Amino acid sequence: MVVPRENAAEAALVPDVDVRVADTLAEVCGWLRGAQELSAPIGIPSDGGADSGPDLSDVRGQLQARRALEITAVGGHHLLLMGPPGTGKTMLAERLPGILPPLSESEALETCSVLSVAGQDTDLAQWRRRPFRAPHHTASAVALVEGGSYPRPGEISLAHNGVLFLDELPEFSRHVLEVLREPMESGHIVISRAARQSTFPAQFQLVAAMNPCPCGYVGDPRQRCHCTPDQIQRYRSRISGPLLDRIDLCVEVPQVPLADLGSARSVHDEDSATVRARVLKARRQSLMRAGRPNAEISTRELERDCALGPVERHWFETALERLGLSARAYHRVLRVARTIADLDGGAALLEREHLAEALQYRRF
Ligand SMILES: [Zn+2]
Repeated sequence: MVVPRENAAEAALVPDVDVRVADTLAEVCGWLRGAQELSAPIGIPSDGGADSGPDLSDVRGQLQARRALEITAVGGHHLLLMGPPGTGKTMLAERLPGILPPLSESEALETCSVLSVAGQDTDLAQWRRRPFRAPHHTASAVALVEGGSYPRPGEISLAHNGVLFLDELPEFSRHVLEVLREPMESGHIVISRAARQSTFPAQFQLVAAMNPCPCGYVGDPRQRCHCTPDQIQRYRSRISGPLLDRIDLCVEVPQVPLADLGSARSVHDEDSATVRARVLKARRQSLMRAGRPNAEISTRELERDCALGPVERHWFETALERLGLSARAYHRVLRVARTIADLDGGAALLEREHLAEALQYRRF
């Protein structure tokens, strides 16, 4: 394969292809005549930079949020972080790619192709690192989904095989949030235009963040919240029930005491490599069982993969009823409980503590 110099590095990522670089067509002709050589591309880092990027050891405290992030990474679940401004919600979200398994070669090529179609360059130093996209809340549905007047991959496709981070979730327009629902289920997006239809992959993990109220300080001991209950209610209801149903874990990210922020790293402030080792180990359980992460267990496979003993089933059904959770939520709680059990050694039957922890992440 002969490519222009600008595409050389990208083309070199494809295995088992002899790639040659040319600057002019005259050079290609010379090469075909046997009059000159064309060089091969140089310099692809073999590890692909999966370990680069921000590290979890920068985060102080926030044990519950760390735990939720780890579960999210193992199972491929969607996560909502809720807390006042400046508590590190963005910091946590940015560190999810660093604890996820590196992209496999075929995933990396897929992600690279999506970028290429969108007219963007792959960062070749980090081609095995999972993408992290964080569109601003002023982004339109078009930018998020279909990239403009000519159908192109939007932000959700650029986040394919990686993380889509939506900060200040309630500030996104309702329409934008509604268009997310379908790809969150199907893993792809179909864009219809007058003359044609395009399908782009969009298998992303959603991490959303929001303040608990419009001013951000309800429940915070150090700042007074000035919002009325009515305002808080309206703010939260901007996120529709169906979208919320699709988010598997919701966790609070409270203010960390100032004294802790200045202190040295504690044993709980683990780095990304330590957490990722646990994530990989737990994820192997689901890959051996179903060939994919737990978030993608089909409802048909739930009976087999998320089996409950009679006592646990009774307890679980009573708990769900008391919390008024939907049928969709029922399945999602089971998948999260499965992930928690995988982190706990991978027992075949889910135990009550796995279910209880999973239920605790449904509090919104
Ligand atoms: Zn407030």
